[in-house]
Amino acid sequence: MPQRPPAEPGMPEDEVDTPALILDLDAFEANLDAMAAFLAPTGAKLRAHAKTHKSPVIALQQMRRGAVGQCVQKVTEAEALAWGGVPDILVSNEVVSPRKLARLLALSGISRVALCADSEAGVALAEQAAAAAGQRLRLLVEIDVGAGRCGVPPGPEAVALAQRIAASPHLIFGGLQAYHGSAQHQRTPEQRAATIAGAVEHTRRTVEQLRQQGLSCEIVGGAGTGTFPHEATSGVFTEIQAGSYAFMDADYAANQDAPPFRHALFVLTQVMSTPRDGLVVVDAGHKAAPTDSGFPKVWQRPGLRYAGASDEHGNILVEGGTAPKLGETLRLVPGHCDPTVDRFDWYVGTRKGRVECLWPVAARGGMQ
Ligand code: PLP
Ligand code: MN
Repeated sequence: MPQRPPAEPGMPEDEVDTPALILDLDAFEANLDAMAAFLAPTGAKLRAHAKTHKSPVIALQQMRRGAVGQCVQKVTEAEALAWGGVPDILVSNEVVSPRKLARLLALSGISRVALCADSEAGVALAEQAAAAAGQRLRLLVEIDVGAGRCGVPPGPEAVALAQRIAASPHLIFGGLQAYHGSAQHQRTPEQRAATIAGAVEHTRRTVEQLRQQGLSCEIVGGAGTGTFPHEATSGVFTEIQAGSYAFMDADYAANQDAPPFRHALFVLTQVMSTPRDGLVVVDAGHKAAPTDSGFPKVWQRPGLRYAGASDEHGNILVEGGTAPKLGETLRLVPGHCDPTVDRFDWYVGTRKGRVECLWPVAARGGMQ
């Protein structure tokens, strides 16, 4: 059950009920503007990944700045976006359950939905679902450009799958999905450049082989916040799928030469115990600030280090500076923005220390 908002418009940020998900609107809007400005001269378009924000409000802000649509990973995310008015959605993922495929097809009256496939069996399932719904479903072939997750090998296998899709009266061949996940957090710019150079070559070759068979790719999609400058300027990728850029997190900030996005997303937490000198305990633990990519960082409080988490508690060591007092609030920069957002029902949008808006995290908790 969605919870009531932890704040009201106009109140000071430090009075918001904690833990709360704070979106610093000046930083957030600057990030959206910066991505739009970077991509404009490249010819590549943004199809931002909504698995990060799970919000049609945010999706439409990205689209007002030139994004052609949104990516999602889950059917529930596609539903939340379509119901919220997003007209063009790519499920950048495989979906093989007939019930889920039917749910996606049911959105066609309000949004153009496409999805990915990486097997003949997956294509056949999509085909059956489309036939049952009396529709033509757009499918992209996912290729594995080196990350070792989903995808057929680039080259002839991808071409064969594309031909299978193109030959079906119930399907439309929509292009290639070519995302390299493990490159995103390679720490040095040289590593990222080299990895994506390989991914671009695999993709370029496959696009060319498809062309030789008379198949054109409306979409060649991939890239994330760590590597998008390479894909966007490759001349091969038409769509950029970055998501985290809108918020940033501590893990992306740890990349050397990280793209110049600002931290816009914070977990606001309150000191609820000061048990001894050198330690304060806050009300954001694992449940509020997931630690899969490391502990959160305490924002603009030198000397404070978040060093331990249990479900509902965070231990902050005071190694310098002034110790925060009981009841004081602190902003935490999440280690990983995507799972952090998924813990909250509401974005509390603030500007210059005051609450300005409350946006629901519409697809929050949507597991399917
Ligand atoms: N595209 C796909 C298919 C993904 O799975 C991801 C993240 O895992 C992204 C794009 C990029 O997301 P981000 O920019 O948040 O790293
Ligand atoms: Mn992520």
